Amino acid sequence: MSTASVIIIGAGISGISAAKVLAENGVEEFTILEATDRIGGRIHKQDFGDVSVELGAGWIAGVGGKESNPVWELASRINLRTCFSDYANARYNIYDRSGEIFPTGFAADSYKKAVDSAILKLKSLEADSAGQVAEEAPSSPKTPIELAIDFILHDFEMAEVEPISTYVDFGEREFLVADERGYECLLYKMAEEFLFTSERKILDDRLKLNKVVREIQQSKNGVLVKTEDGSEYEANYVILSASIGVLQSNLLSFQPPLPRWKTEAIQKCDVMVYTKIFLKFPHCFWPCGPGQEFFIYAHEQRGYFTFWQHMENAYPGSNILVVTLTNEQSKRVEAQSDEETLKEAMSVLRDMFGPTVPYATDILVPRWWNNRFQRGCYSNYPMISDNQLLQNVKAPVGRIFFTGEHTSEKFSGYVHGGYLAGMDTSKSLLEEMKQSLLLQPLLAFTE
Ligand code: FAD
Repeated sequence: MSTASVIIIGAGISGISAAKVLAENGVEEFTILEATDRIGGRIHKQDFGDVSVELGAGWIAGVGGKESNPVWELASRINLRTCFSDYANARYNIYDRSGEIFPTGFAADSYKKAVDSAILKLKSLEADSAGQVAEEAPSSPKTPIELAIDFILHDFEMAEVEPISTYVDFGEREFLVADERGYECLLYKMAEEFLFTSERKILDDRLKLNKVVREIQQSKNGVLVKTEDGSEYEANYVILSASIGVLQSNLLSFQPPLPRWKTEAIQKCDVMVYTKIFLKFPHCFWPCGPGQEFFIYAHEQRGYFTFWQHMENAYPGSNILVVTLTNEQSKRVEAQSDEETLKEAMSVLRDMFGPTVPYATDILVPRWWNNRFQRGCYSNYPMISDNQLLQNVKAPVGRIFFTGEHTSEKFSGYVHGGYLAGMDTSKSLLEEMKQSLLLQPLLAFTE
C-alpha cells in the first residue's frame, strides 16, 4: 500500500492544474491516479490523414476581450499554432438536400427569427421557473432550414441568445488549435514545471497511469483508494476530477455512500455529447474561399450531419472534412459501425455537392459516450438553474474534494473551466489543510 497526503484522481487539465498548485504550495506528497495510459483526458490529439486532429477540445474559446483567457496565455507561451474561426459566415452557407444554397437574405431572416424565438424560449423558461406565464410563446422550428439553425443556435452558439461568461469576460473570438504537438502539449508544459520529466516524457512516479479507481473509502483519519488492478493507496485527502458523466455512472463507489444532496445534484446536471467525425478525401471538392470554412446541411431530421467544417485553413492540402453531431445523433453513430456512418456522410455530401464526389478514403469516429472514463463530453447545466445545483456538485464531502470543468462556476464545459477549477479546488484544500493543522494542538489538548 502506498501513502500520500493527497491523491488526485484523473490527469486531465483540472487534475494537472490541481497538482501544480499543490506542488507550488509545498505539498510534494501527492499521487495522481489516471485510468488511461496518457495525460490529457478530454484534450486528445490523434494522427489522421498525415495531420494531427483533436478528438476532444479543439478551440480556445473566449479570446480578445477585457480579460485574458488563461489558456490562451499558456498557449501563447509555447507558441501553440492556432487559426481564427469565423462561425458568423456559416449561416450564409446553408445547403438544402438538392445542393442549392439558401439565398443570403432568406438565410439571414431565418437566422434572426430563430434568435428571436430562442430568446422568447429563454424568457418563457424564466417566467415558468418564477411561476408566471410568458407574454409570448416561442414558435418551434419545423422546416429543414429552421431545424438546422435551431441546432446551430442551441448546440453551438448559445452566446447569441444569452450572455455566456466565457465570451463576456474573455472576448468573442475562438481559435482552432492546429498544431502537430496537439492541444495536449499545454498539459505537458504544465506538468514539466512540477513533475520529473525527461525528453518530453513524464517519468515522475507520482503520476500513475492505467490506474482505474473503483472505490474511495473515507474515515475520520483519512482516505483509502482502491483501483481495478487491486492496488490500494492511502492519503489524507482525495481530489476527484472524473467527469460528471463518470460520476453519474457506477464506475466509482464511495464508502460511506455520498449524501443524497450530492448524488441528486450530480444526476441533475446534463451531459452533452459532441462528436467530431473526421473524413479524409483524395482531393478537395468543397468551396475553400474566404468565409467558407463552415457550412450547414439542412435536413428534415434535426442535427442530421448538420454542421461541417473543412480543414484547409488549419492544414492546407489535408483534404479533410469534419462533421459534428451531438447528443442523440452522437449516440446513434457510436452504436453503429464506422462503415455505416461513412455511407450516411457520403450520401449527405453527394446531396450537397453532387454525385461525382469521391468516396472518403478514411474515417475517424470518436466514441466519447461509450468511453467508461468519460461518458460524454461536457457538463451542461440547465439554462434556468439556481446556482445551488453547481455549488452542490462542487462541494467537498468530508475528505473528498471535487474538481473538473463541471465544478467551474463561470466556465463549466470549457478547457479554461477545467484549468481554473483545478486551481480553485487545490486552494480550498490547502485552506482546509491549514485549518486542520491549526486545530490539531487544540484537539490534542481536549483529548
Ligand atoms: P478530463 O479531461 O475528463 O479529465 C479527467 C480524467 O479523469 C481523465 O483523464 C479520465 O481518464 C480520468 N478518469 C476518469 N475516471 C477515472 C477513474 N475511475 N480512475 C482514474 N482516472 C479516471 N472545451 C473548450 O474549451 N473548447 C472546445 O473546443 C471544446 N471542445 C470539446 C469537444 C469535445 C469532443 C469534448 C469531449 C470536449 C470539448 N471541450 C472543449 C471541453 C473540454 O475538453 C473539457 O472541459 C476539459 O478538457 C475537461 O477537463 P477535466 O480535467 O475537467 O476532465
